[in-house]
Amino acid sequence: MYLFRDLLPVVVASLLLMAAVPGGAFGNPQATERAKKFIAGHETRVRPLDVAVGLAWWSANISGEDSDFKRKEEAQNRLDAALSDKEQFAELKAIKQLKDKGEIEDKIVAREIDVLYLMYLEKQVDPALLKKISAKANAVEQKFNVFRAKVDGKELTDSEVRDVLKKSGDSARRQAVWEASKVVGAEVEKELKELVGLRNEMAKQLGFKNFHTLMLFLNEQDGEELIKLFDELDNLTRDPFLKAKAEIDERLAKNVGKNVADLMPWDYHDPFFQESPAVFDANLDEPFAKADILQLCRNFYKGIGLPIDDVIARSDLYEKKGKSPHAFCTDIDRDGDVRVLGNIVPNEYWMGTMLHELGHSVYSSKNIPKSLPYVVRLESHILTTEGVAMQFERFSKSRPWLEKMGVKVPDPEKFDAAAEKVRKNQLLIFSRWCQVMLRFEKSMYETPDQDLNKLWWDLVEKYQGLKRPAGRSAPDYGSKIHICSAPVYYHNYMMGQLFASQVHATIAKQVFAGADTTKVVYVGEPKVGEFMKKKVFEPGRTLDWRGLTKFATGRDLSPKDFAADFGGK
Ligand SMILES: [Zn+2]
Repeated sequence: MYLFRDLLPVVVASLLLMAAVPGGAFGNPQATERAKKFIAGHETRVRPLDVAVGLAWWSANISGEDSDFKRKEEAQNRLDAALSDKEQFAELKAIKQLKDKGEIEDKIVAREIDVLYLMYLEKQVDPALLKKISAKANAVEQKFNVFRAKVDGKELTDSEVRDVLKKSGDSARRQAVWEASKVVGAEVEKELKELVGLRNEMAKQLGFKNFHTLMLFLNEQDGEELIKLFDELDNLTRDPFLKAKAEIDERLAKNVGKNVADLMPWDYHDPFFQESPAVFDANLDEPFAKADILQLCRNFYKGIGLPIDDVIARSDLYEKKGKSPHAFCTDIDRDGDVRVLGNIVPNEYWMGTMLHELGHSVYSSKNIPKSLPYVVRLESHILTTEGVAMQFERFSKSRPWLEKMGVKVPDPEKFDAAAEKVRKNQLLIFSRWCQVMLRFEKSMYETPDQDLNKLWWDLVEKYQGLKRPAGRSAPDYGSKIHICSAPVYYHNYMMGQLFASQVHATIAKQVFAGADTTKVVYVGEPKVGEFMKKKVFEPGRTLDWRGLTKFATGRDLSPKDFAADFGGK
């Protein structure tokens, strides 16, 4: 058997003992050569397949054509097949064992083996089981796609549901629509539970306790460590959240003619209270109505010494028929071919989104040195690239940033008050929602047979401060599609926010001589780009997320700087 965190403590202990032998001279040139050979072979076999996936993914999202989606799926299957190869994995596993005994002295080569091991491990599942899992997940997703909330015999689209929750002053109507929107949970409950069972079976095949532990292991994370981090985040955000919520509740109550104490989950503006309800007079779009969002991005990134003209030249940034309505950034070849898909319209949302996607684009093979080997020439972790993207995205709500960028803000005081509130409320509300998602998924995969309806509402009450509807016992967790189709992923967004705050605070301190974090807006300061390159981008994946956080900020990842943004110290 090979080495897993949850398994074979005897093996782990013996390896630790070996590593502790005085002198520690386990370096073995043969092991290093064997590793280098495997890495070179991987690059030859897998790199072209990976590039093909990137290109097919890009085309499919631009055209929306069935034939392009088919090509994308085929390319993905070829890549998966290469990574699931049993013989290759056996060789990699053997090399990884040598590496764990300290026989590979070259740190970069050793790191490449770790990175590859996690990549291949994920694909070593019995193909029949994998097929069952994707069939089950597809069945659930399809039910989500065709589901429409029904009220009084009339079907409502998703955006009609949101519209009622955003605008209606009639609490009975809101309740009917909210309850109808949750019916999908009951429709998928049985299949979702089967899916959880299958995912756990897959984890056990690979030697893990459950699917949650497996997913975290593949992402170099650990459940107990995450809970500790989220407990600390809970402590730091609870009071500012309750304060913000009290202010929001007062306005929501007025909206539906109730007392604050009588507010129910359907009185909030989205089905899960994951967004800040639009109860403040906040027209954040006004300054952007006449702005050239693309030019602003070009100027901003050039000004901080991270120009993106080449990215823009390869990108597809405006709406057209068949094209995906969302936004993403992709590094096609880890050799500088970096592109963004967007659908820019002149409003605050797209200003933030473009700053976000182009933030991903500067943290890519554009600025991760070519001298790093292919295997580690990418971001350290999903949370660090999301963090960098969010670090830049936040400026779309900053008046000092807008003014320095030459964008006129018609009513500065009003904009400030609204933008500040929206920014804080969004981050606070999102952080409480992430608490529910992380803890629910962890507990669900650990103990799938428990009363999940109760677990869900216990967490919603505790972390989001919402009231459980009396006597309600329905699988409301099932109405959140991410639990089915993006499992054990949500916490990375939250950790990305922590990373963003911590890197920004470090820049304020080290690059701007301890200036107020809210005043540090980077405009026209190439030293920001210098810092980002040296401290965040250049290590690529040679450092894991813990190592990179420490390298960039001198500290472990912590919620302190994030909380300080709300005065929640
Ligand atoms: Zn992103």
